[in-house]
Amino acid sequence: MQDENSVQVPTPKTQITSLKFERYRLTLVTAILSTPRPPHTHTTHPPLHVSSESLNIPKTAIKAIDRRRRAFFWTGDEVCHGSRCLVAWENVSISKNDGGLGVKNLELQNRCILMKFINKLFSNEPAPWKQWILRDAASFDTPSNSSTSYLWRIVNDELTTYRSITYVKVRDGASTSFWFDHWLPAGPLYVSHSALFSHTTRPNVSVQDVFQARFDLRLRSRLTNAAATQLADLLLCLQETNLGDGADERRLKHTGKVFTARDAYATPDRRSDTPDVHGRHIWGTRLPNKVKIFAWLYFKDRLSTRGNLFAKHVLDDDACQRCSGCVEDRQHVFFDCTSSAELWQMLQMSSVAELADANVWTGCPLPHLDAKLCPFVFLSLTILSRIWDARNAEVFGSEPSSSRRIITRVCDDPVIWQK
Ligand SMILES: [Zn+2]
Repeated sequence: MQDENSVQVPTPKTQITSLKFERYRLTLVTAILSTPRPPHTHTTHPPLHVSSESLNIPKTAIKAIDRRRRAFFWTGDEVCHGSRCLVAWENVSISKNDGGLGVKNLELQNRCILMKFINKLFSNEPAPWKQWILRDAASFDTPSNSSTSYLWRIVNDELTTYRSITYVKVRDGASTSFWFDHWLPAGPLYVSHSALFSHTTRPNVSVQDVFQARFDLRLRSRLTNAAATQLADLLLCLQETNLGDGADERRLKHTGKVFTARDAYATPDRRSDTPDVHGRHIWGTRLPNKVKIFAWLYFKDRLSTRGNLFAKHVLDDDACQRCSGCVEDRQHVFFDCTSSAELWQMLQMSSVAELADANVWTGCPLPHLDAKLCPFVFLSLTILSRIWDARNAEVFGSEPSSSRRIITRVCDDPVIWQK
């Protein structure tokens, strides 16, 4: 075990992408190292229950845990140099369908657990700890100050996000904020009727308050034209709405179901703006995890080719060491390098080199291949991963690459994987 404070200086040799163990490390990172609290156990003692689920983990602690997780995943060590991380950690944390590896974002996960605590506050289950927390607050929107409790500050920090991902089916209207909750089809009134909202003197009223006051919104006088128009529109809407009996019901917008921290974590708004075309396909194939992780890096062009290492200032040059000295980028390693080109030619699959990445998933472009025998994508990813293995064996182990040996391994792989 190396000294915690010593960071291994990356050398070309250590840059080898050993996919052999990453599949196991991914499992360990997602299953064990991403659980910042003990597994949920039911307790009949609310204060204990609250404290175990409402621990606001400091950002510095989350960063320290992430440094360990990142180093362990990419290298198996406790610390690692940034250049050995082939994909930025924030992209590793994205879901697999969106192009990441689904490793939990601890900060986001922690916030979702804190929102679960807010959800308990809003629920209609009576509990003494709720009265204790709300003892000094006129409403859920009462701002925190230096004398307010730690738990109340959590409510203040996460309430806006909690409201933005939930909607309310109003019954008695007591726990629903008239202005800030999403309880009318148009969304929160402070957004849909912003001109009118700017005139209110009581922004924190509940829906029940407003109905009991016969729609008196406590507005400052001299409404602007826009506010007057919005008031007329809102009064029409309110007159068509009836309150009922029982507690208001909250649901997550994207599931229509009651709030859970797990579903809140998967809120669509948090997904990447640029959907990944490969993630969904890669993790849906019946390939071993080792090949899936290889494919994930291949399509992102994050394998440790000499071109990529040169771009990260790890190597002094980007020339292929196996042939004429061309730039060793992804295209060169897998298709243009002498041994790779020979391999594709022997397989009568040279045209694969011209195939755009996105088209790998859309059927078989080679009429002579029997897709029933072996799906094209299955075959091509197996070949690519074996080319990568052979390249690494030649560069780092001085084991000459042989097209015939690669083909033998490609033929053996499906047999071995099915065992
Ligand atoms: Zn070459």
